[in-house]
Amino acid sequence: MELKDFDNKVVLVTGAGSGIGREAARAFAGRGATVVAADLNQGGLDETTRLIAELGGRALAVTADVSDEPQVRGLIARVQKDFGRLDVAFNNAGITGQAHRVEDYPTDDFDRVIAVNLRSVFIGMKHQIPLLRRTGGGAIVNTASVAALTGPGGMSAYAASKHGVHGLTRVAAMENAAHGLRINALAPGWTETPMVAAASAQNPGFTRLATSAIPAKRGARPAEIAAAAVWLASEASSYVMGQMLVVDGGMTIGGFEL
Ligand code: NAP
Repeated sequence: MELKDFDNKVVLVTGAGSGIGREAARAFAGRGATVVAADLNQGGLDETTRLIAELGGRALAVTADVSDEPQVRGLIARVQKDFGRLDVAFNNAGITGQAHRVEDYPTDDFDRVIAVNLRSVFIGMKHQIPLLRRTGGGAIVNTASVAALTGPGGMSAYAASKHGVHGLTRVAAMENAAHGLRINALAPGWTETPMVAAASAQNPGFTRLATSAIPAKRGARPAEIAAAAVWLASEASSYVMGQMLVVDGGMTIGGFEL
């Protein structure tokens, strides 16, 4: 039987115009949710809403920059006005930034990565939490990365932002655990999305890693990561709070194959 456990629920997905966010938006819609798909990329959003309509699902596309507080405030106000509730927020939009050693990293670029990946999660949760709690709670899932646990060379801004997402998630989870609002992070490993294609082009070491250092010997399909986001947002994970779920084909096991 088809599971429709998100029927009557409103789910916000950021970065929904591509990759993991698009697959998550489709998966939530397939489980019955009304999806608010937010992204900077209007063309990407159009394709996501088309795919959801093809499934017979419901979606509202909103163009917004997640690092810009007035735009995030406007996005949440729109959700409140149109639907009167928010049940799940998947704060997923992100960028990798350039690959440079710390001593060569342009400071403006560092600031931009922190703004898009970390500040966005802070301002997102700041405006989502009151609306989520108004109807009794729900769930927030924030996309971190295996770079929240590791130190990939050349990716100081990215790793710092994702370590920050982990910490922020734990604090927000602590503050909301008694209020019916579960907050967790998701740490994907190498996932075959346009972001990875772009990062591979400028950092060949990253590509070598995919074929050698991942025990599964392959990258993830975006749908495999999306499935974990849906699980963290669902009742199936009702006692999971403040955790970071690593979905990485074994990349961070850290041992050796016999
Ligand atoms: P993706 O395919 O590039 O999708 C990200 C989407 O977010 C794009 O549509 C992008 O628009 C949008 N976006 C970028 N900046 C934004 C902003 N300021 N406001 C709103 N939307 C914005 O990337 P993905 O691989 O699915 O990554 C999704 C998340 O997973 C990110 O947080 C990433 O760090 C994380 N992650 C990915 C991997 C991986 O291997 N792919 C691994 C670990 C973690 P544009 O196309 O216009 O930039």
